[in-house]
Amino acid sequence: MKPQGADALRLPLLETARAMTAAGLNVGTAGNASVRLGDELQADGLLITPSGLAAERCTVQDMVLLRADGSFDGALAPSSEWQLHRDIYAAFPEAGAILHAHAPFATALACQRGDIPPFHYMIARFGGSTIRCARYATFGTQALSDAAVAALQGRRACLLANHGMVVHGRDLDHALALAIEFETLCAQYWRTCQLGAPVLLSDEEMAEVIERFRWYGKPKPAPP
Ligand SMILES: [Zn+2]
Repeated sequence: MKPQGADALRLPLLETARAMTAAGLNVGTAGNASVRLGDELQADGLLITPSGLAAERCTVQDMVLLRADGSFDGALAPSSEWQLHRDIYAAFPEAGAILHAHAPFATALACQRGDIPPFHYMIARFGGSTIRCARYATFGTQALSDAAVAALQGRRACLLANHGMVVHGRDLDHALALAIEFETLCAQYWRTCQLGAPVLLSDEEMAEVIERFRWYGKPKPAPP
């Protein structure tokens, strides 16, 4: 990824933050979004939504240019979860954008502190046969960031215990689509649990789905 100028990404980031609210993922000042500015996190930094200001009230200039050491440019401070964003970019080079939300169904499940099992094949979209719940830690701390990075190993999303969810994608549009899909799965899981314990897919069934997703939307290579 070529380093991108922060100014080119200010509007897409703000629009993504507003789209999270429109999609019902966020209410008020909860939740935040960021986008990576280049492969070299130390040199390029990231752009992140500000602390304590609802997306509807933000302007493009309120998006905060944040460096990996936590220093930033601008009048507003970065989101209180900036460490979570920085550490996910550092741990997962494929992460181009990150969304964090207190989405209603994901948060309800996160308060149960359980992983989401393979109740539906679309769980595989997030990289494996479960979506994990990170262990509890206070918001805005290094401990929360460490817990999320551990729960995201091999995954594009996780629940944060008694808090919400975090998702990373290759860019802002991908991350937003995944966040909406994740909340939809959480709503479906919540509903099926009302009927009793769902029948789960087996390891073999999920392995087949994961293999299919590997080629989904891509031309299959010609056989040797
Ligand atoms: Zn939060």
